[in-house]
Amino acid sequence: MLIDKPAAMPHQPETLLHYPLDNALPAPSEAIEVAPGVKWLRMALPFALDHINLWLLRDQLEDEYGKLRDGWTIVDCCVNRSEARAQWEQIFANELDGLPVLRVIVTHMHPDHIGLAGWLCRHWTAPLWISATDYNAARVAMADKDSFGGESGADFYQLHGQHDEAFLGHVRGRGNYYSSLVSPLPTAYHRLLDGSALEIGGRSWHCIAGYGHAPEHMALHCLELNLLISGDMVLPRISANVSVHATEPEANPLQLFMDSLQRYFALPADTYVLPSHGKPFIGLHERIQQLLDHHHERLDDIMQAAQSQALSAADTLPILFKRQLDVHQMTFAMGEALAHLHYLWFGKRLQRRMDEQGVFHFSLPI
Ligand SMILES: [Zn+2]
Repeated sequence: MLIDKPAAMPHQPETLLHYPLDNALPAPSEAIEVAPGVKWLRMALPFALDHINLWLLRDQLEDEYGKLRDGWTIVDCCVNRSEARAQWEQIFANELDGLPVLRVIVTHMHPDHIGLAGWLCRHWTAPLWISATDYNAARVAMADKDSFGGESGADFYQLHGQHDEAFLGHVRGRGNYYSSLVSPLPTAYHRLLDGSALEIGGRSWHCIAGYGHAPEHMALHCLELNLLISGDMVLPRISANVSVHATEPEANPLQLFMDSLQRYFALPADTYVLPSHGKPFIGLHERIQQLLDHHHERLDDIMQAAQSQALSAADTLPILFKRQLDVHQMTFAMGEALAHLHYLWFGKRLQRRMDEQGVFHFSLPI
């Protein structure tokens, strides 16, 4: 749901991708330089998806008095827990060359990315840079205890055929889940827009908006360095969760996600991709195609099953997910199942009807 847990695992082997650093990974309190002035950090996450990649960019920014200050821009932050804060303290000591953090960029509002943004901004008196949509969605999620769970969440899953009491109890109880992982956010921010050009360390980086995974995800592309900080939009091993949520029950996020992926074909094929999970890789175009193929295969699986019966979202879980799902994974799985069903419904390949028990079913159009 909010964490990028892979609801659907891919499929294609990684043989088409090239990992320039092979199996090298940054040690917990150290960074690996991946390009001039660009450092890779890796922090542990308390989820099945057990790590996140964060980036340090050597930078220079003008202060209020017009004086240039040397320092660093951070891209993404990890979740708000003591282990991550301690790891950051070690990074400050080991990797900043005695310089300050000048700003904090967040690709999107999921807790593993934005969790420590407020803490970092306060620690360094540094501004937050993020899309307006994700900033505001994060503020709402912090304030509204039921925004990603509670009764409305449980009602939503029942509408889609999920009546498992253990699961519904889990959903009802997860009202403060988001705020438990995210440090209070700064009350002001710098807005990132699609196409925004940022000067970071004397080089130009462009924002590329992506939809379907988060409200308005921002990837960062530097043509001069041939680098893409892809956030969660393009990952090498897993496909990012694409979910319909109770707060926008008739959304079509898979269409948005696949349309957004297509835009990365415009970048050079040999772009060095710095993803939020997994290892930096080359093979952007191949990976986009794999992700698109993966979703089309799942859509075909659903269409195949729909030939013989009308399907609720709960009915499609064994079609889409071959492994046993625990209650936590079920949230992602239901959201992902609905994203695929809605894609087919919006494309008029399936129709949606409510049955007498008040459950939505998707079936071949009559
Ligand atoms: Zn995410």
